[in-house]
Amino acid sequence: MKIIMLGAPGAGKGTQAKMISDKYNIPHISTGDIFRANIKEGTELGKKAKTYMDAGALVPDELVVDLVVDRVAKDDCANGYVLDGFPRTIPQAKALDEALAKNGVKIDFAIDVEVPDENIINRMSGRRACVECGATYHIKYAPTKVENVCDRCGNELILRDDDKPETVKKRLDVYHEQTQPLIDYYNEAGILAEVDGTKDMMDVFGDITELLK
Ligand code: ADP
Ligand code: ADP
Ligand code: ZN
Repeated sequence: MKIIMLGAPGAGKGTQAKMISDKYNIPHISTGDIFRANIKEGTELGKKAKTYMDAGALVPDELVVDLVVDRVAKDDCANGYVLDGFPRTIPQAKALDEALAKNGVKIDFAIDVEVPDENIINRMSGRRACVECGATYHIKYAPTKVENVCDRCGNELILRDDDKPETVKKRLDVYHEQTQPLIDYYNEAGILAEVDGTKDMMDVFGDITELLK
């Protein structure tokens, strides 16, 4: 099963993608996580990506497309995967479709997690992230067992630099301008599924598993 997660920053794409990945035993591929890991390791890619990310802008398509196309060609993706944070622009979506078409395959579902902008800023200030394993928490809605320590791997959590309210506002503008058009794109392709992301996270997950049946 090949799945794309769509939705505004903070809509819950990562949270749901992790649960989908666990339940269906397919890799969770988050381009944001890949960039953050590169920044942490100080790679060239990380250095290039960081300037854009800190400004709340998108990393240029040419830095992200090949990375994802190579990643989904790996053996562990043979039974499918869940893409989180990619594609984010129409050119990225087209490049992915073309690369997959060469192998005669297609994306099965594009799941749009819908959350109004008003709810997002609030959610983001409480988000805490583990850069080691990619897990995401929320101080109120998804707290860790021990404060600021990742339940999965024991690493210390961070408040992401780009989760400051000013940067979140900018990211929402970028989302509406460059990423939201993908909803029409996948609707026209006949694979769009929409869920109400304002519900409790387990209820959102229940709705998603219904759709995937
Ligand atoms: P969120 O979880 O809030 O949606 P991500 O972790 O997916 O954020 O992405 C963080 C940042 O990484 C983005 O704001 C953008 O700068 C960069 N990024 C991630 N994926 C992409 C992509 N597919 N294209 C361009 N930039 C990306
Ligand atoms: P995205 O990957 O779309 O940027 P995340 O999955 O990181 O979003 O979620 C953003 C923040 O909101 C995190 O702190 C997460 O724990 C929290 N969150 C996710 N889903 C819900 C939900 N349904 N209700 C309340 N908070 C949520
Ligand atoms: Zn962790």
